[in-house]
Amino acid sequence: MINFEALFKVSYGLYIVSTGDETVKNGFISNSVFQVTADPPQFAACCNKDNYTAELIKKAGSFSISILKQDADTKLIGKFGYKSGRDIQKFDGTEFSTGKTGVPVVTEDTVAWIECRLTNTFDVGTHLIFIGEVVQTEITDNTAEPLTYAWYRNVKKGLAPKNAPTYIDKSKLEQKKEDTSLPKYRCPACGYIYDPAKGDPDSGIKPGTAFEDLPDDWVCPLCGTEKDDFVKLEN
Ligand code: FE
Repeated sequence: MINFEALFKVSYGLYIVSTGDETVKNGFISNSVFQVTADPPQFAACCNKDNYTAELIKKAGSFSISILKQDADTKLIGKFGYKSGRDIQKFDGTEFSTGKTGVPVVTEDTVAWIECRLTNTFDVGTHLIFIGEVVQTEITDNTAEPLTYAWYRNVKKGLAPKNAPTYIDKSKLEQKKEDTSLPKYRCPACGYIYDPAKGDPDSGIKPGTAFEDLPDDWVCPLCGTEKDDFVKLEN
């Protein structure tokens, strides 16, 4: 039997994998980046075949890996993680530099980055695994911690552990639920649901706050989509 809960026990980091050239640039959020050999140092990055970046990596023959820091802006993650480069210019308004091979390298909210020249590509069904030899690296922030997928899911989503300042006492939540019939709203980009009974403690929004009463500049805590784009859920 496959217990999918077991798969959640695997730990991952969160990265922006980018590629392109002077005219076309794109990148996406990946948790499947890992070193595969030490000599020469090579990295693997797994990418969905439908992803615009996959097409561009094949063309460019190189890619960069930006290692995000723990408190990376959710708007940056939203832009690179939940939107397609076929629809928006992800590098507009993003801090980046250009690598030796000509690919863009996101430097914003990172602890380090790695530039790779493509050496191999493996077809694994729905995804491609790109293998690249390291040609250049840089540490951009030596004090910040790298962002892990678990941190993103558990802390940024508000499902914080008991010893975290954002922990929510569930018994209080359930009590609050009984005396509220306020509608929930869904983020159209990432599927996050704003539940008035829970509020958004990470953004300082208390349980019991109606969606309409959220500040105008409130954005999806997971992906940074604006409040106006949220969709009301019936009942
Ligand atoms: Fe979202």
